[in-house]
Amino acid sequence: MAKSIASRAENYSQWYVDIIKKARLAEHSAVRGSMVIRPYGFAIWENMRDQLDRMFKETGHMNAYFPLFIPKSFLSREADHVEGFAKECAVVTHYRLMNNPDGDGIIVDPEAKLEEELIVRPTSETIIWNSYRDWITSYRDLPILINQWANVVRWEMRTRLFLRTAEFLWQEGHTAHATKQEAIGEAEKMHEVYATFAEEYMAMPVLRGTKTDSEKFAGALETYTIEALMQDGKALQAGTSHFLGQNFAKAFDVKFANEENEQEYVWATSWGVSTRLMGALIMTHSDDDGLIIPPKIAPIQVVIVPIPKPNDQVDEVAHQIMDDLKSKNITVEYDNDPKSRVGFKFAEHELRGVPVRIGIGKRDLEKNQVEIARRDTKEKSFVSLNGVSDYIENLLSDIQDNLFSRALEFRKEHTTEVDTMEEFESVIESKGGFIYAHWDGSPETEEEIKKRTKATIRCIPLNAVEEEGTDMISGKPSKRRVVFAKAY
Ligand code: AMP
Repeated sequence: MAKSIASRAENYSQWYVDIIKKARLAEHSAVRGSMVIRPYGFAIWENMRDQLDRMFKETGHMNAYFPLFIPKSFLSREADHVEGFAKECAVVTHYRLMNNPDGDGIIVDPEAKLEEELIVRPTSETIIWNSYRDWITSYRDLPILINQWANVVRWEMRTRLFLRTAEFLWQEGHTAHATKQEAIGEAEKMHEVYATFAEEYMAMPVLRGTKTDSEKFAGALETYTIEALMQDGKALQAGTSHFLGQNFAKAFDVKFANEENEQEYVWATSWGVSTRLMGALIMTHSDDDGLIIPPKIAPIQVVIVPIPKPNDQVDEVAHQIMDDLKSKNITVEYDNDPKSRVGFKFAEHELRGVPVRIGIGKRDLEKNQVEIARRDTKEKSFVSLNGVSDYIENLLSDIQDNLFSRALEFRKEHTTEVDTMEEFESVIESKGGFIYAHWDGSPETEEEIKKRTKATIRCIPLNAVEEEGTDMISGKPSKRRVVFAKAY
């Protein structure tokens, strides 16, 4: 595999595409905006998915599955929701093809028109709340805590592998509650689950906050977001959790009898993360030599390479190390393919972001040692055969911590407080990143800043310290700073 990756400094977006292609994570498909996720890319996604799934179950949720198609009339029942999604819907109008009576090929059978058109789900609130009406009659039926792993379609005009695709994989939690307080608590809890996952597993620091009205989910009263910073100084919305109030309960007439036997509308939340997290992972850690994957997410944590070629003694040592690592639940691969040279193998494993590489050479074995290289810093050390598996166990945890601290350090260097539009524009031009500035709370100034600089309000940080200030545009008073950035 040739290693021609563009450098981040020269061409950041080419670098991103090159990594995805050369590490064989995904590729464009014949369908505009829809990608093929290749096995290695899918293995990383599976690790993320499995960990999230564990965390959802630990917090009391169960998985279920709802249909891919949504009757068109469902979507229009909640006014904000339909307005938000109408522009990006794929619509099924017919159910049959036929031979073209006027020539070659096949055409849509005009006789096979659906009575009611179907929308390929862009998100499933409507079809799920239509079921919840039948599931909920009394307070004893609540809460309902359900998650679905699925694909959704949003007909995005400008797409980018993983970050924004027309079809993407995700999970969507949909919960129903008896009280407003409980629903808000659920939205906050899942927001924190996402933040914990991002930080502890993806080693990706995130800001926790809420969205402004203009950036909120269509149909939500409050959207909680986790925002990450990519290496080009742009922000990425990495996960969202919504408090939906009683909007969907009212749209689908979902009521319950409370303990006093009075009818009330049910309270709702929804929350989701998608294959966009793959893009976040790549752009948080990787370098000009390829992918860097935090050990807790890596499909292969350790690779063993014989130097220069395998022989019986090398094989024996390799298998012993593999057994020791496997007994510690560390995933390991033995790359003893005689067809490729050692240099090629090293480059390939770097490109794929395998966190640790063990080189076993004849001369090293004479000294009863192996060479261990870590992917994040490229440091190498010689380690005595007796202590290899313990050493690696500690090293993996070191790498995980180092990746997080490195990303956190980068975020600190790319976080600036500004008080004037002049400073704001100069930071956006020079280094980007997160900018903390005062805002008067009006959509007009938010829009004006976006028009001038392309930066948007990423979030109103949770637990922000109160601080008197003035809006950079209107000069009106503001009580706290919000976070601006250019975003993906
Ligand atoms: P939403 O339902 O709009 O709150 O989105 C839920 C999650 O899906 C968020 O974490 C988004 O970042 C992500 N997401 C939204 N649109 C796309 C897209 N076109 N491709 C990939 N991920 C997306």
